[in-house]
Amino acid sequence: MIYYHHDPLDGKALSAELIDSLKSEIEALKPKLVVIQVGDNPASASYVRNKQVACERAGVNFVKIHLNDSTTQNELLAQVEQLNQDDSVTGFIVQLPLPSHIEVPLIIRAIDPKKDVDGFHAYNLGKMFLSPDFEDLPPATPLGIVKLLDHYDIQIQGREVVVVGHSNHVGKPISTMLLNRNATVTTCHIYTSDLASHTRRADILIVAVGKPNLITADMVKDGVVVVDVGINRREDGSLCGDVDFENVSKKASYISPVPGGVGPMTVAALMVNTVHAAKRMRQNS
Ligand code: NAD
Repeated sequence: MIYYHHDPLDGKALSAELIDSLKSEIEALKPKLVVIQVGDNPASASYVRNKQVACERAGVNFVKIHLNDSTTQNELLAQVEQLNQDDSVTGFIVQLPLPSHIEVPLIIRAIDPKKDVDGFHAYNLGKMFLSPDFEDLPPATPLGIVKLLDHYDIQIQGREVVVVGHSNHVGKPISTMLLNRNATVTTCHIYTSDLASHTRRADILIVAVGKPNLITADMVKDGVVVVDVGINRREDGSLCGDVDFENVSKKASYISPVPGGVGPMTVAALMVNTVHAAKRMRQNS
């Protein structure tokens, strides 16, 4: 086996760089980002905190609306509608996961696509589907991954890309965005038989599942580029991704760590979308 000297895909450093590069535009546009958090799910709370920190660094006016766990679907819809109408708000997100009595698709559908800085609304997903030229507010995690690959000059066109995970927010959109950049894309999921036969072909392997050590060293080829999207909490409280980092990194040419890889890039991409939404709103007012 060839032991590769792998390079980390340093999302933490790139995220800080990207956010700093937006500061002058932010100063001029004065975007206001509102985050609605429903209940006290610890994962939601930590995502919201990360976004707040990024906004403070970038100079974005950040407002958190914290609703309690028993908020009804109609009350949340009314809150969304109020933010749609409020001209001072240039973008907002409803932080997922939501309590189980709330239907997520119904809430996302109610968000004004122009203010949908998470890029989850069908209108924005549809534009993303067409081609990179039509991407307007693409979903933040896939946008962050594309920016990470681009920053490290990782060629996408003509490469074999394997995406593991087919969620609406990560797996499907990153598959589409890389297909639109002329990669040959295979999307795997829980019903894929013989996952390893696919992952072993990958030049670029993107894993978004939520299962520690799902991808082991015998499942990848030498020189693979690995993007680990998964966020899992170990029993000792520390975080890890879906990839056996210690062993896979010995075969990888590039690999993103968890934490410090895709997570910070998602937040940076949210800032990119926040600036974009504000710019368009200011231009049209
Ligand atoms: P999800 O639960 O909506 O989807 C999980 C996907 O994994 C599904 O497509 C499912 O079919 C697939 N899957 C499950 N078990 C599998 C198996 N054994 N083999 C192959 N595929 C399997 O998850 P999601 O929202 O896409 O998130 C995935 C992971 O990424 C989670 O750990 C989540 O916390 C993390 N995440 C991280 C960021 C970030 O910014 N870093 C953003 C979003 C999600």
